[in-house]
Amino acid sequence: AGKRTGRRNTVTTVSAYGGNAREPLEREGALRKAVRQGALEAWLQPVVSLASGQVTGAEALVRWPRTDGGITPPGEFIPLAEATGLIGDITAFMLERVTDWGARWHRRRHAPITLGVNLSGLDLQGDGVVPLVRRLLAEHRLPGQFLMLEITESRFMQDPHGARDMLEELRALGVRIAIDDFGTGYSSLSYLHRLPLDCLKIDRSFVHQASRVSGRRTLFGAIASLGRGLGLTTVAEGVENLADARLARDLGCDALQGYLVSPPLPAATFAERYLGDTPVAVPAITA
Ligand code: C2E
Ligand code: MG
Ligand code: MG
Ligand code: MG
Repeated sequence: AGKRTGRRNTVTTVSAYGGNAREPLEREGALRKAVRQGALEAWLQPVVSLASGQVTGAEALVRWPRTDGGITPPGEFIPLAEATGLIGDITAFMLERVTDWGARWHRRRHAPITLGVNLSGLDLQGDGVVPLVRRLLAEHRLPGQFLMLEITESRFMQDPHGARDMLEELRALGVRIAIDDFGTGYSSLSYLHRLPLDCLKIDRSFVHQASRVSGRRTLFGAIASLGRGLGLTTVAEGVENLADARLARDLGCDALQGYLVSPPLPAATFAERYLGDTPVAVPAITA
């Protein structure tokens, strides 16, 4: 974090981008180049059903490999991508990867797997996402129900009416919609039943260590029953231990995601581990 000076944002920005390129401009050029050259990667984190203990989906998370072999996490470049207009290209790239893989896996597997892609608020402001999703589903012959689009409350609330229309159009393609990081925004709850939603992803700040911290457990339970009461699928994010996983199950969540099962993985590793003939067992969550 930067020093508390009048130029705090600038200072913070520079240090937050870190990595190889120090200056924001240099950083922007590097990101632009990475996007153009297809150097970004879509990693996948498994989503596990609490009823069956099976991997029923995965969330795609963008990764920027560094020249030194490390990885720059999205928190360090998504804001830059949003500020520079590169986010649209990143969204398109992620949707392309996921519909391609999803279609391939869909044809090969008995049990269906749903793949999630995060949308930026800017994607909801432009008018390119609906035609893009329509084209990709058709090109890959992937039924829309195997694609989940994740939107945070705050992103959605920037333009609730416009966003709602777009979500309706996506829904008409069969695509599912999730509210991401639920509970961390500042918006009113009243939009929840007016939106075409399928899934509520409960933010990890309510989930992590909820089995030990009673205040968190109370909020976690309240959010889970809110979601269920509205007929939404609920996913507990950031589950790192078995006690929290069992709590999620006891609170009526449908699925979980978190380091307990796996961190995000390169797609090939994900497929090898979870979609092969001898899938890796997930921890005994249902026991
Ligand atoms: P998110 O969509 O809520 O994604 C979940 C984040 O939590 C991921 O961080 C994931 O690695 C992390 N996580 C998963 N399980 C655990 C756990 O058990 N413990 C902890 N501490 N963390 C866990 P990541 O990949 O760094 O992504 C951060 C955020 O960046 C995402 O939050 C999402 O808002 C954004 N993001 C990632 N990929 C994309 C993308 O392709 N497009 C857009 N627009 N945003 C993206
Ligand atoms: Mg997400
Ligand atoms: Mg989330
Ligand atoms: Mg998040």
